[in-house]
Amino acid sequence: MEIRTVAVVGAGTMGNGIAHVFAKSGYSVTLCDVEDRFLQRALETVRKNLEREASKGKINAADKDAALARIRTTTDRESLGSVDFVIEAATEKFEIKAQLFRDLDRICPPEIILATNTSSISITKLAALTKRPQQVIGMHFFNPVPVMKLVEVIRGLATSQEAFERVRELAVRLEKTPVEVNDYPGFVSNRVLMPLLNEAMYAVMEGVATPEAVDEVFKLGMAHPMGPLTLADFIGLDVCLDIMRVLESGLGDPKYRPCPLLVKMVDAGWMGRKSGQGFYKY
Ligand code: NAD
Repeated sequence: MEIRTVAVVGAGTMGNGIAHVFAKSGYSVTLCDVEDRFLQRALETVRKNLEREASKGKINAADKDAALARIRTTTDRESLGSVDFVIEAATEKFEIKAQLFRDLDRICPPEIILATNTSSISITKLAALTKRPQQVIGMHFFNPVPVMKLVEVIRGLATSQEAFERVRELAVRLEKTPVEVNDYPGFVSNRVLMPLLNEAMYAVMEGVATPEAVDEVFKLGMAHPMGPLTLADFIGLDVCLDIMRVLESGLGDPKYRPCPLLVKMVDAGWMGRKSGQGFYKY
């Protein structure tokens, strides 16, 4: 069966980006969220981002309008039973995703692949909640989705080779570069990135250097486009802390202990860019 229609469940930062790239590549997209206002906000973001691409000559006006017209919205999860592929990009809370996977497993025909964009939740654990663990897989996009080329394609313990190949092919059709990864806490991206950010925070906490100096070292010395503390503020310090806790509990090694300064900043409500205060003021 060829995949033509796709459901994107969760219309936040990642969901709108994922809907954008599928629609731009010719797929009919049903974007699903719990309230209509989130869906309207997502459509507005997709429209603006497509317009920006048009102003840079990356897409022509007719293709831009056609892409937007391919996205329909719904708050009714039960209506997703006729799509060819589902990707879940809802809030990063296990209970929310667990309920969604149980429901999607009941609603969608058994041959349909259920993918998740989770950054840190076990694919294997979500798969085990369904009657189709071989059809459950991680498809991890990066923010901003229309710009970033990477998709980590994550095999759960039971994911079939066929499901893996289909998702890899799908990523290529979206003009992304898939990279194969197995299901362990943090996959590759966050397992390697987050300890780097965490260690940069220790360097600040211990007075080794200021946030500005740490960031300069990485920008000028390692050619990173953004220093680790700027990046942590951009990702959200609460998100960084949640991921460190997943690494710490999932891998059981004290080297993943979250930096106490990170814990303190999150306790203070300093979440980075989104709250106006993190390692920098916004
Ligand atoms: P977000 O908070 O911006 O959006 C989440 C959306 O999910 C919200 O609109 C919320 O209303 C919706 N939602 C919650 N429960 C739902 C339900 N039961 N059904 C449908 N929609 C529901 O979050 P985000 O940053 O877009 O993250 C989404 C997923 O993508 C998470 O799993 C996250 O770990 C992952 N992710 C995020 C990033 C990032 O940089 N933000 C990068 C890669 C992966």
